[in-house]
Amino acid sequence: MILSQKIRIYPNNKQRTFIEKSFGVARFTYNWILEQYNKNSIDFDIYKLKKKFNALKKVEFPFVYEMSKYVSQEPFMDFKDSLRSIKSFKMNGNMLHFKSKKDTFQSFYIGGDQMKMIKKEGVDKDYIKLPKMLPIKLNEHIRFAGHITGCRITRKFDKYYVSINVEVDETIKSINNDNYDAIGLDLGIKNNIALSNGLIVNYPESINKQISKIIKTQKVLSRKVHPRTKDDPKIFSKNYFKQKRKLDNQLERLDNIKRDFEHKVSYILTNSYRYICIEDLSIQKMKGDRNVARRLQKLGLYRFRKELEYKSQLYGCQIIIADKYYPSSKTCSFCGNKVEILKLNTRTYKCFKCGLVIDRDINAAINLKNLVGRVTSELTPLDFNILIKKFKTSNIDVFKIEEGKQQKACL
Ligand SMILES: [Zn+2]
Repeated sequence: MILSQKIRIYPNNKQRTFIEKSFGVARFTYNWILEQYNKNSIDFDIYKLKKKFNALKKVEFPFVYEMSKYVSQEPFMDFKDSLRSIKSFKMNGNMLHFKSKKDTFQSFYIGGDQMKMIKKEGVDKDYIKLPKMLPIKLNEHIRFAGHITGCRITRKFDKYYVSINVEVDETIKSINNDNYDAIGLDLGIKNNIALSNGLIVNYPESINKQISKIIKTQKVLSRKVHPRTKDDPKIFSKNYFKQKRKLDNQLERLDNIKRDFEHKVSYILTNSYRYICIEDLSIQKMKGDRNVARRLQKLGLYRFRKELEYKSQLYGCQIIIADKYYPSSKTCSFCGNKVEILKLNTRTYKCFKCGLVIDRDINAAINLKNLVGRVTSELTPLDFNILIKKFKTSNIDVFKIEEGKQQKACL
């Protein structure tokens, strides 16, 4: 299993120029492939094309030799991947776009045989050595032990990163030291994640703050478009770009806060439980509601699920995904009775059959946990405190919903 770790790097001027040139070569190759694809997409063969490119490059594109061979070889694989992914979404080939120098995201790849991790004496830092470049200092150590298969250098806006791929031996998994039985998660789009054991994990307050900052910046930005661009919507003022950059930075910060949160929560859960049950959110459906789509930004649902999946492989835990139509919110988690209608703003679930009164999200989470298909063991109060402590030490706001709300009312 290959894991990758993304680390921010600070290349000096010379290195930056070299990196930018490499982005250029990668872009050029990709665009060349796309051009060939557009000419003849019917009997398109990536391997034949690669041969053609290699035959042509000596004379026609000699500049590719200034970089590592990977820079102009990997785009063939990238292209194949993007072709596969648009086909899986049932879109056709004209959805592929040419890459531009102006794109906010740029990248190139280097294979493991051409890169090296080095240590300098007396410095507690790792350095990465790429072909034709001086070593670049890394601000983090590599977390995974194993063979390094390659790395990808990326730039997002004006920040550079390296993602290092490490092949991890799967037999070292199962460091899961607590081995609690099973847990269900109800992933809220607005405020929190509800756990079937009665805990509520709040999204960081900084996410809300950052979102309101972004809304403000966006408003200012939209005003900056207007005056000069009455006639030509393509002309933007200098101030517009300044503001745009501010917005980009704020968006990136929001994304970082979210990622950090997703990492920590998925780590704690996969490290503590043997089964984690989640719902299969049909994200497409949620996007229909614009308002919901905006709130959805507080948790990268798709990304969070991926996090859970790969960490579960590492720590020996199993993810169970409910069927899309599983009525986790509408079912009573105590007696199994189902209500037909449950309004979105109803926060408390009341069962008219058995009298259960319970927080709506906790009820859904318990139903998800029940998917394990047998009676699962509960945490002891001591285990419970250990779990809460894990969240607290990671600076995650967590609280237990009051018992009173969860008790069965007397009929
Ligand atoms: Zn009931």
